[in-house]
Amino acid sequence: MRFPLHVTTDMVTYQIRRSWRGEQRYPFVLMLEPLYACNLACIGCSTERHTGKLADRLPLEACLKAVDDCGAPSVSICGGEPTLYPELPALVDGIIARKRHIYLCTNALLLDSKVFGRVPPRKRLTINVHLDGMRETHDRVCARAGVFDTAIEMIGAAKARGYHVMTNTTVFKDTSIEEIEQLCALLSGMRVDGMLISPGYHYESVESDIFLTRQEIQKKFRRVLELSKEYRLSSTPMYLEFAAGERDYACSPWSTVTFTPRGWKGPCYLIGESYTADWSQFWEKTNWDYWESRQDARCQNCAMHSGFEASAVRELRRSPRDLARMAAWSLGG
Ligand code: SF4
Ligand code: SF4
Repeated sequence: MRFPLHVTTDMVTYQIRRSWRGEQRYPFVLMLEPLYACNLACIGCSTERHTGKLADRLPLEACLKAVDDCGAPSVSICGGEPTLYPELPALVDGIIARKRHIYLCTNALLLDSKVFGRVPPRKRLTINVHLDGMRETHDRVCARAGVFDTAIEMIGAAKARGYHVMTNTTVFKDTSIEEIEQLCALLSGMRVDGMLISPGYHYESVESDIFLTRQEIQKKFRRVLELSKEYRLSSTPMYLEFAAGERDYACSPWSTVTFTPRGWKGPCYLIGESYTADWSQFWEKTNWDYWESRQDARCQNCAMHSGFEASAVRELRRSPRDLARMAAWSLGG
């Protein structure tokens, strides 16, 4: 199976329950950013995500309240670098006690000192390692030599300790798809449990010509679509076809909600137009119709999985053929 059975059944049950209540929009994933401090300063990362102080982190109780308030069945703990969050073991315990699934999104540099031995492998926990290419590329993107080698070593160590491990790769303008294929081959050999590949988003705070236009995304993702037939990619076939320009979707920014040290970030993981302390206010006041339409200039080159994977799922009800393909993809390896 593409994902462990309990993850798939929990996600499907959750969607059925929310649909039965007549809800059209509901969150699938909470991007929980407990801190804006990081031990790296990657060139494609929004400045706010790595220039904060540890002292300004979210209290544990605020993180768990966000999990309760939004109700999303999956929680991606990111940041910043979440392994720096001192309360990480209690946060993982609290989220798992609420029967949610955790993706711990990390650069992996501190897994041995901050995670192994403090946060044991759990059925509901996946370590998701950021890896943007092979050695030279990844070290350049992370602006530090040696990051790739350490990340690979940590992936091997995490697998050996019994953790469920995935990787997360961002494609930039000068990313070579041949290199992404090399990376897929390397990670498959290490038996990672899934690989997510997505196009970079041009944050306003990043002054660099490394991001892709929509046409460039489509060209690169036509090749990624081919790779998906050979490697265990975690993106759905419909999303990859969307990124490759073979189909079109409205955005679903409400599917991935983001809680940060500044509050609920709206409208989406990428655009911080507003920050709201209260969940209900955030959910009710955000103009979802506007952001779904992608008419904003900042949406023009966006094909992020956080906005469009849920759109692909939502459209399944209109196409029995796509529904059958999705079922086959979920059951496949
Ligand atoms: S490791 Fe993650 S949070 Fe830290 S700078 Fe890099 S992309 Fe940003
Ligand atoms: S298209 Fe992208 S930037 Fe625009 S709302 Fe959706 S996820 Fe956000």
